[in-house]
Amino acid sequence: MKSPLLLLLSFLAFSAAAQPAPGPMIPREGAFVFGPATALAADEALLPLAHYAAEYLGRPVRQQMTGTGAVVLTLEPGEPSEAYRLEIAPDYIRIGATSPGGAFNGLQALFRLLPPEVYAQQGIPDGTALACGIAADRPKYSYRGMMLDVARTWVEVPMLKRFINLLSYHNINKLHLHLADDDGWRIQIKSHPELAEVGGFRGGDSPVAPVYGKWSEKYGGYYTQDEMRSLIEYAALRNIEIIPEIDLPGHSRCIGSVRPEIRCNYPPDTVTTAGTDYRSAWCVAREENYVLLEEILGEICELFPSPYIHIGGDEVEVAQWKKCPDCRAMMKRLGTVNPHRLQDYFMERLAAMLAARGKRPAVWNEAAASGTFTRASRVHGWASVGACHAATAKGYRTVIMPSECFYFDMRQTLREEGHSWASIFDARRTYEFDPAARGFSDRQLRHVEGFEGAFWTEIYT
Ligand SMILES: [Zn+2]
Repeated sequence: MKSPLLLLLSFLAFSAAAQPAPGPMIPREGAFVFGPATALAADEALLPLAHYAAEYLGRPVRQQMTGTGAVVLTLEPGEPSEAYRLEIAPDYIRIGATSPGGAFNGLQALFRLLPPEVYAQQGIPDGTALACGIAADRPKYSYRGMMLDVARTWVEVPMLKRFINLLSYHNINKLHLHLADDDGWRIQIKSHPELAEVGGFRGGDSPVAPVYGKWSEKYGGYYTQDEMRSLIEYAALRNIEIIPEIDLPGHSRCIGSVRPEIRCNYPPDTVTTAGTDYRSAWCVAREENYVLLEEILGEICELFPSPYIHIGGDEVEVAQWKKCPDCRAMMKRLGTVNPHRLQDYFMERLAAMLAARGKRPAVWNEAAASGTFTRASRVHGWASVGACHAATAKGYRTVIMPSECFYFDMRQTLREEGHSWASIFDARRTYEFDPAARGFSDRQLRHVEGFEGAFWTEIYT
């Protein structure tokens, strides 16, 4: 049987091929016909893109090309944006943009006009004709994302590259990688190699107890920093920014299994769990934890060029803090009996670490619920449409991704296997989501950065 990730990939592949032509195409007389002499040419800054396109079109890159049959990529002066202009004339095809990202969008618009073989990189047959016309378009939202949970199910580099490719055909420009959760740590941290070398594997003799999939066999993997650098570069050529997430201070059972000292200061009840400590939160009161976090986030900030680093903040089991004498003492110092104040404190410390490195935090909506968290952050509203309403009303830059419309691990029909806790729906609901029709005011809409689909991998390997 195909794995669910492969099914998602084939869904994306199919819908890419099925996408309509770019909207505002103004028709012109004549047609451009691919012939034996058709080749690509580009301004210097767009040459990497020309080589990318050459693989899809099955045509060579020839600089200083004259005469007919050129597909030309041109970088135009102006404020860099993702807008593009695609001109199809009898003698040439010209894509103009003020940034490589815009030119990439223009290329994708061209691909959609071509026979589906373009996506198979089999080359465009001679004699393929495109009606002449001019299209100019720009994305409505700056954030068009997809989240992939590589923590619970390990996704190897070649598969991740394929995923990036398929996202890029849909003009998705952000890949939010969920790199650490209860069940896996997937990124090398050079100052603490055990996090990935031990935490990247579960089952067998690993201290990370398996919850999903195999029990007796040890399995998993992680990305080295060199591999991640090459993935970042691979994605960037395709106009995709990789945003890393280390989920904190909850969803941290994996690192808690590798480094048990980060947990709260009380013996867990492991009688019913066959000796396994399933506690998943960092102790907020343990000062050494912030040294470790500083070292981890320091390397993450250095590795990833994205201006935002996602630091989680969802579904923290605060009962652990209520049982911890150190956390209780800290609540007393903070003058509160509400353990959620401890999360606010923890998240602010992380935000300060990021700010010191010129980065901003991205968080799940719970971290912004109290409204005290820094407005420098970007909020991912996953829990409900109401959570997105609340975040935009508080003035947070918000990515809309309520689970009942954007979680691609929900099944699409009753007959399909999989989750249904958020809803049963298909991609039509995702694509048709319109915040204006969902009661967002003009002021709230100004805080909407865009949308994100999510593919969690809880029930698979
Ligand atoms: Zn504690």
